[in-house]
Amino acid sequence: MKEEEKLFQELEMLKDAMLESLQGICRIPAVAPDAGGTGEVLKARAIQDLVRELGLPEPEWHNARDTRAEEGIRPNLIVRFPGASKERLWFVSHMDVVPEGDRSLWDTDPFDPLIAEDRIIGRGVNDNGQELVASLYALHALQRAGITPSREISLCFVADEEVGSSYGIQHLLKEGLFREDDLVLVPDGGNQEGDFVEVAEKSILWFQITLEGKQAHASRPDEGNNACREANVLSVALDEALHRAFPEQNELFAPSCSTFEPTKRASNVGNVNTIPGKEIFCFDCRVLPQAPLDAVLRVVEEVLASRREISGCTMTLKILQRDDAAPGTDPRAPVVRLLGEALEKVLSRKPQVGGIGGGTCAAYFRHHGIPAAVWGQEANCAHQPNEYALKEHLLNEAKVFALMMCASSEASNLQ
Ligand SMILES: [Zn+2]
Repeated sequence: MKEEEKLFQELEMLKDAMLESLQGICRIPAVAPDAGGTGEVLKARAIQDLVRELGLPEPEWHNARDTRAEEGIRPNLIVRFPGASKERLWFVSHMDVVPEGDRSLWDTDPFDPLIAEDRIIGRGVNDNGQELVASLYALHALQRAGITPSREISLCFVADEEVGSSYGIQHLLKEGLFREDDLVLVPDGGNQEGDFVEVAEKSILWFQITLEGKQAHASRPDEGNNACREANVLSVALDEALHRAFPEQNELFAPSCSTFEPTKRASNVGNVNTIPGKEIFCFDCRVLPQAPLDAVLRVVEEVLASRREISGCTMTLKILQRDDAAPGTDPRAPVVRLLGEALEKVLSRKPQVGGIGGGTCAAYFRHHGIPAAVWGQEANCAHQPNEYALKEHLLNEAKVFALMMCASSEASNLQ
């Protein structure tokens, strides 16, 4: 029997186990301290147990210290499976998840994933549990089929992806664990058809504005300075000024423009009849590589200066996250070709190469000169209530990963 068929047969047999493993690890909320959680350590242990159960090599722990997290660490796990050459193929997925959000919008318990007819529903089953589990089972299938891969296969499960990656992939890159000739797949994004390969990301800028006026009784606005009203005006002014200043289009990306979205707003007063003296709100900006973030920040500062003068409120700007876009991955890079060949075989589709709003772990690799690709076959429901993963997608991903793992290294070196 051909290697390919053997692997597919193994994975077909493993599909229920794969789903149950996904359910098991997603029962543990791994929310970053920045988002109100305790970190990833308990989930990392559950993943370690799964790795042992599957008979794969013992995971290495690469912890970043974080006193706010459970046990004071943010763990990153690496499972290395030896290959015939020194070349390495990495699959980098993240363990952390975003909080459930408004619980009333969920039909099921977000942290007790439900297996339904064609899907599994719960926080983190799609982003990024689906791919994490698919990569583990792909390697497990390879082992069961008795295949020695031509390259070392390294599975990497990182912390902190949802809030900036400083305890996750950035920590590992600083440790010097990667080489420029590594093949890196970040399976953390894609489309339903499974034919989209991401090779570029927009810059990311998250900022927060703290605005202070003067609190007063709501019947005496003349004695206060309503921070709520000014926050409304300022938010719209920023929104309009940014969209006006950066109208560029780039068809590599979807959407093809820069985006500037007002998002989080801190709660203010507890009662209706008080004029708030303080407001805090945030913007999430995804900016095309051709628009420098310094220019974006200049527009923000200009709007703040003019509104400060008009309103008499104090306004402070805080940058919560800033990631300037890295140069994109060459669509002819070995990892893109390796992936393209595998997904054509599994899905019978030609891959489409393009850019997204960011930001995955791939951006950090690209900053280090390592050409990473991002791929997944998944429903578009990350970070949403009733997040789900289709059983079919999970199986397809495992097949694509398994084919990538068993491909010969000569094939990918052909020009
Ligand atoms: Zn993700």
